[in-house]
Amino acid sequence: MVIRAENLSYTYSEGGPFERAALNDVSMTIKDGEFVGIIGHTGSGKSTLVQHFNGLLQPVSGRVIVGDIDLSAKKADLKTVRTKVGLVFQYPEHQLFEETVRRDIAFAPVNMGFSPVEVNERVERAARLVGLSEEILDKSPFEISGGQKRRAAIAGVLAMDPEVLVLDEPTAGLDPHGRKEILAGLLKLHRETGITVILVSHGMEDIADTVQRLYVMNMGRIVMEGTPLEVYARYEELEEIGLTAPPVTKLIKRLYGADICTLSQAKEYILGVIGRA
Ligand code: ADP
Ligand code: MG
Repeated sequence: MVIRAENLSYTYSEGGPFERAALNDVSMTIKDGEFVGIIGHTGSGKSTLVQHFNGLLQPVSGRVIVGDIDLSAKKADLKTVRTKVGLVFQYPEHQLFEETVRRDIAFAPVNMGFSPVEVNERVERAARLVGLSEEILDKSPFEISGGQKRRAAIAGVLAMDPEVLVLDEPTAGLDPHGRKEILAGLLKLHRETGITVILVSHGMEDIADTVQRLYVMNMGRIVMEGTPLEVYARYEELEEIGLTAPPVTKLIKRLYGADICTLSQAKEYILGVIGRA
């Protein structure tokens, strides 16, 4: 299932005194099974963009096509689209409210009308995919760690069995260990299930190791697109729009003039240089 945005523009409170342009002529195509990143400074339009992918927001102009459904069509089946494109909001743990983690993950499948047996299967599968144990499932969402809460919220969306998983800053507010855990978990999920993943982030470090392809947003527009390596090579432009390149990217560029974007690539590169010396 391909997601395509064509010349998408969006303005909050259009025509009102608080009118605010948030997206300006955005076009992108995300293919089935890709792991794509969307990065940009706060306020660049990332959250507004991804809320168009499941029809939560309707474009002011342009259109979004998910699979063979044009979401702006009058009779678009948005209910189906919302189960196919699962959106994990920023700070999703604020939406955990049931007595147990298990019941929280079950929330969407119960609402979709599945039988108790099917609900249970979906919950178990989703929990396994995000690495939450049985023991955690029976705890209250208020008793578990920040990283576990985040994973429970992701499991709640996976329990709908979506074809596309969109995560809006899934590592925001977590410590480095929690961040690593979430990103490693997403990579594993992508590898094991082949699900399309769209990962939104306001930082660059998190995502270089993770995504296959990257869009960079600034002031409601897409300003760059490419592999992490292609994008990070342009770190001077990135810094102009408020994105800080990983220090190691800059270091290797200054020392050797080479483009790398992760610590492990830097290590390999340096070992290669030393080996040749
Ligand atoms: P990001 O997710 O990249 O931080 P957003 O999509 O949240 O960016 O915001 C894009 C722009 O739209 C910003 O200027 C923001 O202030 C504005 N905006 C976001 N949500 C609303 C809203 N509900 N009402 C009015 N303006 C909004
Ligand atoms: Mg946002």
